[in-house]
Amino acid sequence: MAEMIQAVRGMNDILPPETFLWLYAEYIFRRTLLGHGFQEIRFPILEKTELFKRSIGEITDIVEKEMYTFLDRNEESLTLRPEGTASCARAAMEHGMLHNQIQRLWYSGPCFRYERPQKGRYRQFHQFSAEVFGLTGPDIDAELIVMSASILEKLGIKSFSTLQLNSLGTPASRSEYRKRLIHYLSENKDQLDEDSVRRLHKNPLRILDSKNPDMKDLIANAPKLLDHLDEESLQHFEKLQEYLKYAGINFEINPCLVRGLDYYTKTVFEWVTDKLGAQGTVCAGGRYDGLVEQLGGKPTPAIGFSFGMERTILLMKQSEKNHKIDTGIHAYLITDSESTFAAGLKTANYLRTKVPGLRLVLHCGGGSLKNQFKKADKSGAQYAIIIGEHELKTRSISLKNLREDIPQQSLYQDELAEYLKLKISKK
Ligand code: ATP
Ligand code: MG
Repeated sequence: MAEMIQAVRGMNDILPPETFLWLYAEYIFRRTLLGHGFQEIRFPILEKTELFKRSIGEITDIVEKEMYTFLDRNEESLTLRPEGTASCARAAMEHGMLHNQIQRLWYSGPCFRYERPQKGRYRQFHQFSAEVFGLTGPDIDAELIVMSASILEKLGIKSFSTLQLNSLGTPASRSEYRKRLIHYLSENKDQLDEDSVRRLHKNPLRILDSKNPDMKDLIANAPKLLDHLDEESLQHFEKLQEYLKYAGINFEINPCLVRGLDYYTKTVFEWVTDKLGAQGTVCAGGRYDGLVEQLGGKPTPAIGFSFGMERTILLMKQSEKNHKIDTGIHAYLITDSESTFAAGLKTANYLRTKVPGLRLVLHCGGGSLKNQFKKADKSGAQYAIIIGEHELKTRSISLKNLREDIPQQSLYQDELAEYLKLKISKK
């Protein structure tokens, strides 16, 4: 036998029945986003490498070592998207959606990062994201955070999650702070790891986000950005907190919560959990008033968040909530010859059209009636629908209840549709 080819490391197959959890989560996301006036946007998984270099920044984990970048046949450097915000902003700009307009957008799909695979961290993972362009906040910041809380609530995982909040201020106030931070870190250079030494002058804020336990104390004692906020950012931050308190959303202020990228401004937030080991961030969000301009557009305020779907699903598995969507089969249609199969194919289609929500499996693959009945039983269906030579001649259809002791019935097609409609709506 030929050797089997396996999936790429860190890239998962998602199989039934777990796919039902995904379906449930995606259903809640979509419904909630629609309920807040968001519209879906779709864009390619591949973009020009330059887009991510320019938006995410050269001195970041993602751009330095995590991107899947390759030359296409035309020697153009392309990258599988490591995140969606840059692509979303690019698409919105390219189609003139941002000029003097407010956009509330959502999207979902795979992202790719070359990381060390472990629980909650993969090389292909999925995000579900929302972005708002054209509003300066803090009203929309609060609305977005309240929306993220309601998603967690509906998925039954809010009690596992804590909201952490911080403000990064404006680029001007941050550049003052940046100097102080570099000064502090330089004085303690012996405690910095290799990555941090490299970032010291290029991206010092990112050092605050380091997960190296040896640097924990150093980071805890570093000067705090919050103590150096400009007046406008401070007011923004205070107002946001006020709104959240009013909305009954608990939060913690985490002064070390940063995004080491220049385009981030003011509000940053994360929903974190202690139930997934080191991969504690389920949803990360923030305001990025500088991004659109950095990508060549007019200055446009913006804020967004991304849920990591795999981490969300892992949490849902630990929740008490029943995430089951009813996907059971209602009816299994069996036939006993080629000519009756042709009639069955037509009838199955008729019934599915006439009976909204009907889940009907048409038996394929032939076999004896006895065998087909066994399959019908195994499918979990409530009813077997039988079309044999006799039924074909009498233009009738037989219906057998597989779960209750009720005599088999003979019905016309439209009668059967009415019957199933009634039974299914009662369930
Ligand atoms: P982390 O600190 O865990 O590496 P990050 O800051 O790199 O996360 P973001 O770029 O903010 O993550 O992405 C948003 C969300 O996407 C994260 O909060 C997380 O839930 C999810 N995520 C990021 N990277 C991965 C990955 N490799 N595998 C699975 N989920 C991921
Ligand atoms: Mg990361």
